[in-house]
Amino acid sequence: MVFFLVDLDAFFASVEIRDNPALAGKPVIVGALPGHRGVVSACSYEARKFGVHSAMPISQAYRRCPQGVYLVPRMERYSELSEKVMSILGEYTPHLQRISIDEAFLDMSGTERLLGPPLAVGRKIKERVRSELGLALSIGIAPNKYLAKLASEAGKPDGLLQVLPGGEIQFLDGLPLAKLWGVGEKTRLRLQELNITTIPELRRAPEDVLRSMMGEASGNYLYRVVRGEDPGIYSLAPKSRSVSNETTFETDQKGAEAVRRTILELAEQVMYRLMREGLKSNTAVLKLRFADFTTTHAQRTVRHWLTSSDELYRLCLELLGQRWNGSTPVRLVGVGTDNVVGGQEAVQQELFEDQSSRKRRVEEAVTRIREKMDGVKLTKASLLGQNRRRRPSRPSGA
Ligand SMILES: [Mg+2]
Repeated sequence: MVFFLVDLDAFFASVEIRDNPALAGKPVIVGALPGHRGVVSACSYEARKFGVHSAMPISQAYRRCPQGVYLVPRMERYSELSEKVMSILGEYTPHLQRISIDEAFLDMSGTERLLGPPLAVGRKIKERVRSELGLALSIGIAPNKYLAKLASEAGKPDGLLQVLPGGEIQFLDGLPLAKLWGVGEKTRLRLQELNITTIPELRRAPEDVLRSMMGEASGNYLYRVVRGEDPGIYSLAPKSRSVSNETTFETDQKGAEAVRRTILELAEQVMYRLMREGLKSNTAVLKLRFADFTTTHAQRTVRHWLTSSDELYRLCLELLGQRWNGSTPVRLVGVGTDNVVGGQEAVQQELFEDQSSRKRRVEEAVTRIREKMDGVKLTKASLLGQNRRRRPSRPSGA
């Protein structure tokens, strides 16, 4: 298996610089204007040198980098360029899994005879995106998606890095623990309590100890990823994903008003689900089943993510106009969204918001670690102390 993870570098900021070359070399921060509420959605590498990073409040970014160029996001422009990048990527494989506006996995398994060695293909993709669209990206190549993601991160910016089969462990061992995708600050602190600060140390921890200390899901996850295994967080297949709701009328409907009202309700339900699950879609789907049980689906893809139930509703009304003569009785109406992407963040959070481990007694775990891990110097007192201090300040998301 050969997977590419293609990730545009500092995407929103890079688009701004591309569209306004006077910004090149400057710390560009996309999010909000100074003095306004908001967070950094992207920033150039020059801005990162000042300690600015994504998700940081703009006020804090401004304190660190008052000389920065602050811009409001232009999502439609980013979507437009994203589509162009994705269509270039799509020329190399039909198996493209877009995971966000600026990232996609390409399953390149079995393409070598046709396209050449993966590294050469990666180089070609980078050249094309740079020359045709003026954007830089990083590509990680590996035998599975998880490692491809790590390889793309490790190569940034403008990176191209391949992890060869058999080289997984060596690659992982060269990374700081914090670079393991899915290991956030909290997890790192908890691991620190176990005296685990590096990837090789984490690999030496017994599976059941990780599970009892970190929770079933997280423990499992950590145990697998340090062995170069794919934990399956990217196994969602956006192509086949859709989110939809439908209603069967109690009696077949001829009234346009009732059909429209139902579409509006369904659009609201569907958008709510998308937002709650952190999913995005650019495709509205309308399903109609008529009294004679013939069923029709119509869909419309737009060049941006659907952001409101209003928009989904309007698109569905257009589709309704195309597919319904307004007099054939309607038996069922469905509203959906297709090409649904995202949700990976949500999955990650869930994994690590798993508080079930907290219910277990820390002492018990400490005893077991002492028994099982050679050379671990761990004092029960400090472990308990840290847990006690942290607990009240952590409103559980679980
Ligand atoms: Mg990116």
